[in-house]
Amino acid sequence: MKSFIKYSKDSHFPIENIPFGVAFLNGNKVIVTAIGDNVLDLNMLDSEGLIFKDKKVFQSDTLNEFMGCGKKVWTEARNRIQELLGAENPELRDNKNLRDRCFHLMKDVEMVLPVNIGDYTDFYSSREHASNVGEMFRGKENALMPNWLHIPIAYHGRSSSIIISGKDIRRPKGQTRPDPNAAPVFGASKQMDFELEMGFFIGTGNKLSESINVDEAEGHIFGMVVVNDWSARDMQAWEYQPLGPFLAKNFATSVSPWVVTLDALEPFRTEGPVFEKELLPYLQTKGNPTFDINLEVMMKSEKMEEAVTICKSNYKYLYYNMSQHLAHHTVNGCNTRTGDMLASGTISGPTKDSRGSMLEITWRGTEPIKLPSGEERKFIEDGDTVIMTAYSKGKEYTIGFGEVKAKLLPARF
Ligand code: MN
Repeated sequence: MKSFIKYSKDSHFPIENIPFGVAFLNGNKVIVTAIGDNVLDLNMLDSEGLIFKDKKVFQSDTLNEFMGCGKKVWTEARNRIQELLGAENPELRDNKNLRDRCFHLMKDVEMVLPVNIGDYTDFYSSREHASNVGEMFRGKENALMPNWLHIPIAYHGRSSSIIISGKDIRRPKGQTRPDPNAAPVFGASKQMDFELEMGFFIGTGNKLSESINVDEAEGHIFGMVVVNDWSARDMQAWEYQPLGPFLAKNFATSVSPWVVTLDALEPFRTEGPVFEKELLPYLQTKGNPTFDINLEVMMKSEKMEEAVTICKSNYKYLYYNMSQHLAHHTVNGCNTRTGDMLASGTISGPTKDSRGSMLEITWRGTEPIKLPSGEERKFIEDGDTVIMTAYSKGKEYTIGFGEVKAKLLPARF
């Protein structure tokens, strides 16, 4: 495919991508896509009748309405946008007046949360992450709980604190028990961490008491984003038993602004891991049920000019895939709704440099990392910026997610 818009081979947003987002343009929130270094106003193209002849799908300030239209409409809309951006198509290419109004430079555009997110569920689907954390919190013998190889583990998160990339976050305060032989104390978390995750949005959900079949799950998934599930490890260690994480996780979750569709990721389909224990039939997936998506975490302290890479992982390392997440989530009849977000859990890989959290990278602070500035880090310090990115690399082009970025501000008392 070739567009009349020029971009480099490494651009995250070639014509083959066509992600969806929401931008602040001229004081309004409007649905947009990205191509090269540009943001394209889809609300405007839609108003001009250039997307569909018989209906309008981008006249909203969130993606929810479009997401609720279903897979057929998502695919048709994306195909039509690709057609409009095609090098040989004069409709937009030769309409200078419209082009001047609907294209904006990405660097000048403020992106907002693209989806009105209803419920948020966070899985725990990386075997390496679960094993590492389990070993640190409970010892090597009890690292992986006996249920883990049979059932995708998750907890219900909090959607109110999901924020768009670029918004700074505040160090949380709470209870911790630094000395296991003394009473708990109150104060700012001393073990602030990131979690490298990916999330997907439900496009079309399911009715209460009905389930989504694992073979049909992908048809319900609108697209994916990069997720930084901020975590306060000292608060988590004290509060997590017996009901799981609570205040250690729900103070902020950052997401990248561009929702990349499964259609765009299709060429990067790959096989999943070998399942050590045979899964129950409702969790068995066929073919290549996951995607090869490179993941990177970068960090920058206030003393550094440029961010440094501290983790390289891949989405394909996950033990449980998206179809299994959705089939499992609904197997009991739990209904999901348009705009719900299901995140993967921290995506750690098999090697040391693919650990997706500071907890694992520094082994709970016992092996600090050295930054190029000479500073040491056990966890995230005030003023540090954490940046995550994701991309699938093809021969001819890259399908990217852009980045999710946030700076940690000191606790407020
Ligand atoms: Mn998480």
